[in-house]
Amino acid sequence: MHPQLQLLVALQDMEEMIREVEEKGDELEGMGFKHGGLEDLRKAREDVASQVDPRHMSWYRRLTGKFGHAVVPVVNNLCTGCFNNIPSSFVSKTNVNKVQKCESCGRILYWP
Ligand SMILES: [Zn+2]
Repeated sequence: MHPQLQLLVALQDMEEMIREVEEKGDELEGMGFKHGGLEDLRKAREDVASQVDPRHMSWYRRLTGKFGHAVVPVVNNLCTGCFNNIPSSFVSKTNVNKVQKCESCGRILYWP
């Protein structure tokens, strides 16, 4: 996977965790989630975000605002964001060293 994509996937995962902790922090704390864990997560998020190319970051921000999920896996040649078929020509043309977007919904794609 392209290193930028790996960062974006990691970033998305972390932001999801942060959202979850923010929403039900008390609940999680009862389950043993450490105090200060959110702080650590935010720090890790900043660390990852600082390594993402600003161009990709602006896509990511726009897509997250629009869809909630900016980066989605391609499963069975389908974009799992919009379930549009990703033509095999697109896939074979896919340079693993490029960050690809779904031609239909614009989400950032990765092949897990
Ligand atoms: Zn799509």
